[in-house]
Amino acid sequence: MRKEQLQAFAQQPTPFYAYDLALLRQTLAVAQAEAGKYGYHIHYALKANANAPILAEILEKGFGADCVSGNEVRRALEAGFPPEQIVFAGVGKSDAEINFALDTDIFCFNSESGQELEVIQELAAAKGKTAQVALRINPNVDAYTHKHITTGLEENKFGINLWELEELVPRFAEWPNLKLIGLHFHIGSQITDLRAFENLCGRVNEIQRWFEERGRTFPHLNVGGGLGVDYHTPEENPIADFAAYFSIFNRLLEKRNGQIVHFELGRALVAPSGNLISRVLYLKHGQKTNFVILDAGMTELMRPALYQAYHKIENLTSDLPTQSYDVVGPICESTDCFAKGIQLPETKRGDVVAIRTAGAYGEVMVSEYNLRDRVKAVYLS
Ligand SMILES: *Cc1c(COP(=O)(O)O)cnc(C)c1O
Repeated sequence: MRKEQLQAFAQQPTPFYAYDLALLRQTLAVAQAEAGKYGYHIHYALKANANAPILAEILEKGFGADCVSGNEVRRALEAGFPPEQIVFAGVGKSDAEINFALDTDIFCFNSESGQELEVIQELAAAKGKTAQVALRINPNVDAYTHKHITTGLEENKFGINLWELEELVPRFAEWPNLKLIGLHFHIGSQITDLRAFENLCGRVNEIQRWFEERGRTFPHLNVGGGLGVDYHTPEENPIADFAAYFSIFNRLLEKRNGQIVHFELGRALVAPSGNLISRVLYLKHGQKTNFVILDAGMTELMRPALYQAYHKIENLTSDLPTQSYDVVGPICESTDCFAKGIQLPETKRGDVVAIRTAGAYGEVMVSEYNLRDRVKAVYLS
């Protein structure tokens, strides 16, 4: 979204999210075209953003849904995603969530532990159903991303560790209501060093061969999401490098005849099209810095407080010479800080700022802490 477009919002009550549906559509079209070159299937990871108008655009492109809670499965169904295009992942699925997913006949459970497989077996048997499952394997591959969003190392809670497989796989003989149809991997998020995906391909190939040596083949391989976006210069790179991303898998992933390869992208599809628009409440001189105090805080966008994430901030209403500021929110927490020591045009009370690239893991993490009002959303088509 260009600055002039964002400026059109400057008169509205703040804070609110502004979504650029035109950019979203362009992004989805590029992702679809690049994945389509190799016959790859994309499931959108709902946890990045589950707003109805955004899901409608994604559904229209024919993508499936990747859900990590029973309520996300419900939201995907309500949005119109067909059950046979919904996968359900997550390290702690409750019995109620598993039952709901069984009742709605979703495509596949990405299962993360032997004990969870036992529970899915038991609940599926009670309903006289067969559940399709994929094993989420922790491939012990470094994603070269922030440690709080790395998921594919043995120290992380996610996935089944390689050393558990030898014992686990024979147990499928005791689980007649489970149909093992695939392998699943997801090594982390905001991955910009694409060597991580090259390493992942190598590891998936090894693991696939390990299974084949034991007589197990799979119709599906799911290599997760994780493609990063450019938070620093969003206007230069508004669309993530889907061409480079998918071509790595095409070059390095050993796909068997007839095998379907799935991707679960969240951030790369929706982050750039969202902006958090906020008004400056106060300026305050600190001992070493000048604070810009916004009417939006960590309750509206938690990423900076949660994992020191960077979002570019633009003052939409000032063209004065720049100064250095710390940009903070109104919440009673010292981590309620969007940026430290950044250059902004001289900023005054009443100015309106855009916090860019906030379409993923922004509005979905909104909290009521301090009994805050729920932030609104507007859509620009
Ligand atoms: C969060 C998540 C994704 C999406 O990750 P992005 O980095 O947003 O692409 C995909 N798969 C699983 C299992 C996830 O938990």
